[in-house]
Amino acid sequence: MVFVSLKDLLPEAKKNNYAIGQFNINSFQWVEAILRAAQQQNAPVILASTDRIVDYLGGLRLIATTTKKIVEEMKITVPVVLHLDHGFTIERCKEAIDAGYSSVMYDGSKLPLKENIAQTKEVVDYAKRHHVSVEAEIGSVGGTEDGVTSGIKYADPNECYQLVESTGIDALAAALGSVHGPYQGEPKLAFDLMKEISDHLQAVPFALHGGSGIPDHQIVKTIAYGHAKINVNTECNQAWAQTIRELLTNNPALYSPPDILGTGMKAIEKVVTEKIQLFGSANKAAS
Ligand SMILES: [Zn+2]
Repeated sequence: MVFVSLKDLLPEAKKNNYAIGQFNINSFQWVEAILRAAQQQNAPVILASTDRIVDYLGGLRLIATTTKKIVEEMKITVPVVLHLDHGFTIERCKEAIDAGYSSVMYDGSKLPLKENIAQTKEVVDYAKRHHVSVEAEIGSVGGTEDGVTSGIKYADPNECYQLVESTGIDALAAALGSVHGPYQGEPKLAFDLMKEISDHLQAVPFALHGGSGIPDHQIVKTIAYGHAKINVNTECNQAWAQTIRELLTNNPALYSPPDILGTGMKAIEKVVTEKIQLFGSANKAAS
């Protein structure tokens, strides 16, 4: 398989106190920019498409096939995970696995715990047969993602343990104060709760949603407290948009797509490079 799973990367990362960046793709130019940065940094990387924009990107099969081709064409040698972010149904997760994704997140966080466990387990059973990893969520990450806004609901430790122990997931997205999209003021992460849950779970790492906009010193602490996967989407998109906005404003006669979009790609590449260095995953590709 071209793609590896979270199982191949996260336990090692958690053990050695670093995290792997998950960077969301918003067009195939994101794939190229993210891969270029990861290869240059010799860092394992997670490419993710959030379920809500899968259709905009052309569907699961097109994403998996095209991404695989890009990895081959670019002669990428660092480990790459192709992950479905916030898969909203069991069917959608299964379709992603069939299409060639090496990892899926099943987001049953809005369901009662019992149902979340039952449905997550069904995804895990299917994924295991295909050597695909599964992430699941407890609580509610706040903010706005792809047009949907919700408040923060902190994860309950006992619910986290039950979900992990009854399903055998590979990563847990426990909502502990992070938000999707931009933060209003300093993020208030529940570090005490994070430590308590992480100490109990031991081998199963956290995935941090809403990693954009969290100050560097807090990011370092989330890694020390069990996060081995950190999701970044907003910051790449903001850098892309701001760079292109400035370029067009300063050069009103410019209309060449390679000049415009190429500059946007470089902005994404820069953010990804900085995050890889912050997360400590640079030069971890060989381990
Ligand atoms: Zn998320």
